[in-house]
Order: sequence, then structure tokens, then C-alpha cells
Amino acid sequence: MSPISRTIEHTDLETIVGLAKRRGFVFQASEIYGGLGSTWDYGPLGVELKRNVKDVWWKSMVRDRDDIVGLDSAILQSPEVWMASGHVDSFSDPLVECGNCHRRYRADDIGDTCPHCDSSDLSAPRQFNLLFKTFMGPVEDDAAVIYLRPETAQGIFINFDNVQTTTRKRIPFGIAQIGKSFRNEVTPGNFIFRTREFEQMEMEFFCKPGSDEEWHRYWINFSEEWFKEFGIRADNLRVRAHEADELPHYSKGSSDVEYQFPWGWGELETISNRTDFDLKAHIERSGRDLSFFDDDAGERYVPYVVEPAMGADRSALAFLADAYDEEGEGKDKRTVLHFHPDIAPVAVAVLPLSRNEKLTPKAREVYDLVRVNFNAQFDDTQSIGRRYRRQDEIGTPLCVTVDFQTVEEDNAVTIRDRDTMDQIRVPIDNLRAALDDRLAEIRSTCRG
Ligand code: ATP
Repeated sequence: MSPISRTIEHTDLETIVGLAKRRGFVFQASEIYGGLGSTWDYGPLGVELKRNVKDVWWKSMVRDRDDIVGLDSAILQSPEVWMASGHVDSFSDPLVECGNCHRRYRADDIGDTCPHCDSSDLSAPRQFNLLFKTFMGPVEDDAAVIYLRPETAQGIFINFDNVQTTTRKRIPFGIAQIGKSFRNEVTPGNFIFRTREFEQMEMEFFCKPGSDEEWHRYWINFSEEWFKEFGIRADNLRVRAHEADELPHYSKGSSDVEYQFPWGWGELETISNRTDFDLKAHIERSGRDLSFFDDDAGERYVPYVVEPAMGADRSALAFLADAYDEEGEGKDKRTVLHFHPDIAPVAVAVLPLSRNEKLTPKAREVYDLVRVNFNAQFDDTQSIGRRYRRQDEIGTPLCVTVDFQTVEEDNAVTIRDRDTMDQIRVPIDNLRAALDDRLAEIRSTCRG
């Protein structure tokens, strides 16, 4: 199958934000109180979209592989974790303040003048630590300070021994985790691209020192292919190796998978060679042995770690932006999201031709049949044409229509394809298999 052709190559951010709000993907957080800067709530469709992004990642990383297992560690950890990892001392961004309008920026985001008022009266950069602090227990003193995790990775490192001994995995193997992280970003923005609270999908792959560079290349390639598999167009993806001065403090080499967002290229994922930096730091601070005895090599060593680290929110935004298209003219005009079926918030919509007492029970029956296997939605409001448009606009790959012929003649339904708008008639007895076939075809046309 050939890939889906597009009318619009790139859309602007306002269009995406507008659609996201109108259709219930993403809302401004605390909206009724005027909103809280750069925080967002995921509505009924957004939560399905983001859940699908996380589910397909978890399946590719954990369920489909023998060499990676999962973990869900606590957001709150001992402050020692963040002292050992270097976050307390060096997880900071250079901050500059405009002397005229007093706005603050990340120094590496701006030039010599304030982007807001053009003043060149900018302060010298000072390091601003991005850790969110809070207090544990009833007394708010220094001894009670703890941090909200700024990455999920450390929860994995400190559990390396627990996981290795309980699963008896041998090196090389990985531990994956999905969860919230928090960073007091200086300049959040661009919708859900950069926020202070976000979800990460991270995997730490423990390997033998010396094999790290090969694994690094493997995971860079894997990550890029993963985005393509789930529908991001190849032209909108690129891999960029970090310059030496961009490298995080723990990294021997990092490459970003970048996406061409409406405002330009932006990072979706970083694949870093973290060496033995983190495990050694925890060995030193905790006094616990986190080394590994390699039977095959007959030696004990502290594993090296290669880490693909990505954001669920940023990825959801990329999937949304990349799926967007507008087709046709006049009354035939439609907005359509060409989501990959595994990413689409709704996979199958069941639509009776009209709200009619003859059709509704049958349509409900079909809906109950379909929802067992597919994320389905039932809709019987307004005209069928408008309902098709609505499903197109939220990216539902298939609509199943129940009409009078269904109940009066053939016990068959119509399956309508989002991308081609082709319709086929199938007996209800074969419906599930037919939906499976059609979705498989759409998956193949969605490959970027
Ligand atoms: P950036 O350079 O954009 O600040 P980073 O290089 O600090 O990001 P990493 O520490 O590599 O980010 O985190 C891994 C992934 O987590 C990023 O690729 C991104 O997808 C996601 N992520 C990081 N910070 C944020 C944030 N503030 N909001 C949303 N997602 C984020």
C-alpha cells in the first residue's frame, strides 16, 4: 500500500492547539481560575492518545522483548539519590533577566536582546537549579526537604540490583519505566512541548563496557524507526548528535531524535551513553555493591548504560501535528487526522444511519461486539455526514454504519475508511475479522 498523500505539509501550532481544545484533547489547566502557566490537562481524547503512545512504547520495549523488563519506582526518593546523581549540584540552566521588562529566559534560547522588548539590558547568566523542592512530613525545615524527580532514570539505577537478582537477567538487559517527572523550567512553552510537569518514557540498557558504543548506535536506530513505525513521516524526523558543549554531565555521547514541529526542529528523544557514571555514583554514596558478575566473561564489572529517554507529551504532540491534514473544498472540505490505528484515540466508531428505534438496538449490539476488541465509540447524534467528519477530525480510522438494509435485509454493515473514504459491506458475522484486516492495511499505509 502506498503512503497516505497529504494536502498540507505542515500546520501551525495555533491550529493544533485549537483542534486539541475544541475536540477535548488538551485543556489549559486551572482554566476556570485563569490558568496556571504551562500546565495542561488531557481531556477524554487526549488521555486516550497519550495512553496509546505509552502503550505502544511499552509493548515495543517490554512486552515484545526478552531482554527488557519494566519498573514503576516512586516519584519521591531519598534526597541522597539526587545528590549522588549530580542533580542537586548541577541540574541547572543558565538564566538571564531583562533589566527593562524583567522577563526571564534561558540564556541559550536567546541572542543579545530581550525577545519581548528588544532591550539589550540583559543580566549576566546565573545558574538556576531546575529541581522542584517540597517538604516531607509536618515540619518544613531543611532536614525535611525532598525533591520531585526530574527524570525517571535514577529510580531504575537504584533498583538495578533488585531487578537483576529477582529476574535473573544477564547483561545485556534493560529496565524500562514510564512516569511523571518535574522540572522547574525557566522558559516552558510551545503547548505541551515543554512543561514543568511531564511524562517520560525511559529505558536504561545495561551492557558490558566496550559494547556500549555499538548499543548506542542500535538504540538510536531503534528510536528513529519506532517513530516511523507509528506514523511520523520520515521527512519530519532527523537524528542529531550533540556537540561536546551540549552533553549532559553524565554522558559520553548523546544523540537526539528531532521532529520538525510547527516552529522548527525540536527534541523528541535523547539517546545517551551514560557509561557507568550513575551506578558508580550510587555505589560510592550508598556503599552498596551494584556491580555484576558476568559468567560468560568470568569477570565482575560495573555495567555501562545506554539510555533512550523520551517524553510522552512531546511525542503525543508530534503524532498530533504529523497526522493533521485538511482536504477538499467547500462543502466537501474536511479536517482529518491520519493517525496510525494504534495511536488513534478511537479505533472504530459505530454509527447508526440515524437515531431510529429500528436501528438503535442493532447498532448497540454491533457496538458491544466491536468494543470487546477495539477502542470504540458510539455516536448517533446529527446527520451521518457530520458524524463522519467528526470522526475524521479526531482521526478514527474506521466507521461502522448500521442502516435499514442491516436490519431488514442482510445483517451486514458498512465499513468506511478514514483515509480513502471507501466503503465496503461486510456481514456482521465477519465484522471483527474485517476490521482487523482493514486496520492492518491502514497500519501499513501509515508507516512514515
Ligand atoms: P530539553 O533540551 O528540551 O530541555 P532535555 O535534553 O533536558 O530536554 P532529557 O533530559 O534528555 O531532556 O529528557 C528526555 C526527554 O524527556 C526529552 O527528549 C523530552 O521528550 C522529555 N522532556 C524533557 N523535559 C521536558 C519538559 N520540560 N516538558 C516535556 N517533556 C520534556
